[in-house]
Amino acid sequence: MHTQHERGRGARPLMCGAIQSLPPTLVLDALTAASVDDESIDVMTDLRCEVEKDHPGLHAGVVRLLYGSRPETVWTQWVDWRAPAGVLVLGDCPGERRVPSGRDDWCGLFVDHPGRCSFDLVDPEHEAFMAANPAYRRLFAGGAAGGSRPEGPSS
Ligand SMILES: [Zn+2]
Ligand SMILES: [Zn+2]
Repeated sequence: MHTQHERGRGARPLMCGAIQSLPPTLVLDALTAASVDDESIDVMTDLRCEVEKDHPGLHAGVVRLLYGSRPETVWTQWVDWRAPAGVLVLGDCPGERRVPSGRDDWCGLFVDHPGRCSFDLVDPEHEAFMAANPAYRRLFAGGAAGGSRPEGPSS
């Protein structure tokens, strides 16, 4: 269930960002969680919770992207201060947002996730990086329009 509530214009909701590492014992589980004929399998062991901050329930991080015919992703979930106990394959959230540049944004979370879709969330680490690197901010902000005028920092 999604509740629509505005919490102050301008202040965008943050991504949870809780960090966790995938226990080695779960790497094999992640590899065998889905038999998809991928060319290469990447299991992510440095996890960050991608759900909206202050969400109820468990933290959730992507363990492995699947490139099969079904929109599914391998996740793990954990409680604060506890290692994840297992991996699970969850369907991808169908959330989609049209953006002015013509490129669609897709939600990177799972079906029925708590909070808002990932494209409405601000990644605190990403924001910090952008604040420290104004050149990248321009790149991300106007890159799609093809504006390639070099506006490098005054050297
Ligand atoms: Zn979380
Ligand atoms: Zn979503």
